[in-house]
Amino acid sequence: MDSQYKAQEVEDAIYKTWEKQGLFNPDNLKSAKKPYSIAVPPPNITGSLHMGHALNDTIQDILIRWQRMKGMKAVWLPGMDHAGIATQNVVEKELKKQGQTRFDLGREEFLKKIWEWKEKYGGQILNQMKRLGASCDWSKLRFTMDEKYSEAVIKSFLHYHDNGWVYRTERVVNWCPRCKTSLSDLELEYKEQKTNLWYIKYPLSDKGGHIVVATTRPETMLGDTAVAVNPKDERYKKLIGQFVDLPLTKRRIPIIAYSLIDKDFGTGAVKVTPSHSFDDYQISQKHKLEMITVIDENSRMNQNCPAQYQGLKIDEARTKIVEDLTSQGLIEKIEEYSNKVPKCYRCDSTVESLPSKQWFVKMEHLAKVAIKAVESGKVKFHPKKWEKTYLTWLKNTRDWCISRQLWWGHRIPAYFCEKSEEKYIVSSTPPKKCPFCGECSMKQSDDVFDTWFSSALWPFTILGWPNQTKDLKTFYPTNVLITDRDIINLWVSRMVFSGIELTGEIPFTDVLIHATVLTKDGRRMSKSLGTGIDPIDLLNQFGADATRFGLAWQASGGQDMRFDESKIWAGKKFCNKIWNASRFVLSMTNSKQKFQGNKKPKPITREDKKILEKLEKIIISTNKSIEQYKFGQALQKIYGFFWHDFCDKYIETAKKQIKEPKNKKEPESTQQILGYTLINSLKLLHPFLPFITEEIYQKLPTDKKEKYLITSKWPGK
Ligand SMILES: [Zn+2]
Ligand SMILES: [Zn+2]
Repeated sequence: MDSQYKAQEVEDAIYKTWEKQGLFNPDNLKSAKKPYSIAVPPPNITGSLHMGHALNDTIQDILIRWQRMKGMKAVWLPGMDHAGIATQNVVEKELKKQGQTRFDLGREEFLKKIWEWKEKYGGQILNQMKRLGASCDWSKLRFTMDEKYSEAVIKSFLHYHDNGWVYRTERVVNWCPRCKTSLSDLELEYKEQKTNLWYIKYPLSDKGGHIVVATTRPETMLGDTAVAVNPKDERYKKLIGQFVDLPLTKRRIPIIAYSLIDKDFGTGAVKVTPSHSFDDYQISQKHKLEMITVIDENSRMNQNCPAQYQGLKIDEARTKIVEDLTSQGLIEKIEEYSNKVPKCYRCDSTVESLPSKQWFVKMEHLAKVAIKAVESGKVKFHPKKWEKTYLTWLKNTRDWCISRQLWWGHRIPAYFCEKSEEKYIVSSTPPKKCPFCGECSMKQSDDVFDTWFSSALWPFTILGWPNQTKDLKTFYPTNVLITDRDIINLWVSRMVFSGIELTGEIPFTDVLIHATVLTKDGRRMSKSLGTGIDPIDLLNQFGADATRFGLAWQASGGQDMRFDESKIWAGKKFCNKIWNASRFVLSMTNSKQKFQGNKKPKPITREDKKILEKLEKIIISTNKSIEQYKFGQALQKIYGFFWHDFCDKYIETAKKQIKEPKNKKEPESTQQILGYTLINSLKLLHPFLPFITEEIYQKLPTDKKEKYLITSKWPGK
C-alpha cells in the first residue's frame, strides 16, 4: 500500500471495475433472493448536482449498498426527467442569443433543437452521480420521453379519460406571460414586493356619494364586475344591492355581499375582477357574475379595455389609469404597501391570473385513494410529521390542471375537428377520419402534459408498465422513496394515486423526507445568491468518500441541515486514519497469512475478547440506526469504534501481543483478530465510504471467496 491515500487517483478506476463486473445489476447477485428496490427521483436533464442531490444520492446509495450486502436482490433504478418548462427555457435562452424565439423556428424545428441539446449537454448529472459513487443499475436507465415511457403516459391519460375524470374547460389559471403556459400553484414562487395600495372612489349610480375600494392592482379595475363587502360590515349594509358607475368605463356594476371579505383590509370594500384573481373567480361563481378579461396572454391590455388603454403593458396601464383617475378626482389616497407577488419558478416573470382553456383531471376519487394509502399506514412517511403536509394538501386540492402550453413534452392525445374547436376525440393513435364532419383530417391538441403528469408514473413505468415485465413483477412496489419536502405534493402524492389507480398497488411502502441542505448560517443555498457549495468542488478537492462522510455525518433526520464543511475535512482525516491503520495491520502480518472476514477468530487475551464484543455491538447498533434512517448516528458510532476502540486501543495492544507474546499462539491469533476486525469495519463503513473501503479490501490477504467488498456479506447473522 502507498504511504498516502489519494482518493482522486483511485475512485474512478474502482467505479469502472464495479460497473464492468456488473455488480450494480441485481441479476448478478446470484444468491440474493428477496427483492429490494429504490427508484431515483429523476433529476432534470438540465440538472447539475447540487448539495440537495448529493445528500439525496448519498442516502439512497447507503441504503442500496447496505441491502445488497445484506443479501437482498437490491436495485437502484436511475433515470432522468425531460423537465418540460426547464429544458424549454434553456434552449429558448440559447435561441435568444441569436435573436430568435421558438415561434420563429416553429414547433418541429424547435423540438429538433431540444433533442440535439439533450444529446450534447443533457444528463451531465448522471456522470456526477457516478463520481459520488452511486451504484445504480445503469442498464435500467430510463428517460421520461423515451418511446416506451411516452406510451405509458398516453395509456394513463386514456385510463383517466375512460373513467370520465378528464375534462376541458375555461378557468382562471396561473399564466406565465414569458413561458406562455399555465402553471400550477406549486410552480409559483412568491416574492415580497414594494408597491402601493390605491384607494379609488367608485361613484354610486343612483344617489350622490361613492364607495372607496382599496387595491394593489388598479389596472385590473377595467375588468371589475362587482364591488364586494362583508355582509356584517355595518358601514356598507345599506349599500348592498345598489350599483356603482365603474370609472373610466361605461359600465354599472353591483355592490354585493360576500362573507369572506376581510373588513379590516383597506376600506373593507373590494373590487371584484373574476378574470384576473382566483379569489374573485370564486366570488363570481357564487354570484353568477360576468367575467371580463382585460389582460391578454402577453401581459398587455386587450380589446375589452377602453381604446386608450388597449395594447399597453401592465405597468404602463397602471400609470395611465392612476393618472386618469387622479385627474377625475377619484383617487382618495395612496399608501405604501408591500405584498407577495407570484413569480414563475422557472423564469421569474410575474405570473398573471387569466381565464384559459385547459385540461383537468378530477381529483375527488384520486385524492381519496391517496389519502387512504397513508391514513391506513400502507405508505409511511419518515419523519412521520410530513404526513400532515401530504394529507392537508390532498384534502384541499382542486382539480389538477394537467395541460401546459409548451412544446417540449408529451403532447396530449386529443384530436379536434378542424371545423369546431369544441369537438374532439381522445385516442392513442391519430384518427383516420373525423367522426364529426366526416371529412377533415383532425388536428392534435397543441398542449403537452404537465411534467408531473408523466413523472407521477415513474416507479412502475421505469419497470416496464403497462407491460407485465419480469422487472415489474419482481421490483414493484419499490421499497422506499427518498426525496425532499418540496415535492411531497407535486410528486409524492401523485405517484401514490397513480400507482394505486393504474397498477392496483402502492408505488412504495416508505417515504423518507431528508433535510434541506442550508448554509452553515442557515441561509438557502443558491447559485445566484452565491451562497451555495458546489458538490463538484468538494469531489475535486476531497474525493467522494470524504464528501459522503460530511453529508452522512450530518444526516440527522432533522428538517434542515446547516451544512458544516469542516465535517468534510473530518471525513478526509478519517480516510487517512483508515488507510494508515490498514497499512499498519498489513505490516504486522506475515506473508502467508490469510484474513477471514466471515469466521470469528478465538480470543485469547482479555483485550481480544473486548474488541470482538465491541464489534458485535457496533454491528447491531449500525443495523438499527440504518433501519431507522439515522445515518449520521450509524456513521458516528462506527467512526468511534474504529478510531478509538480499534486504532487507539486494540492496535496498541496487538503490537505487544505480537512482539512480546505471553503464549505462543498469541501472535497468530492477534493477527487474525486484527484482520477480522479490519475487514468487518471496512464492511460496516462500505455503504458510507465505498471507494476507500473497496480499495483497501482489494489489497488485503483474504481467501478471495468474496472478491469485492461491494457484494460481500454484511457482518453479523
Ligand atoms: Zn415563466
Ligand atoms: Zn372534422
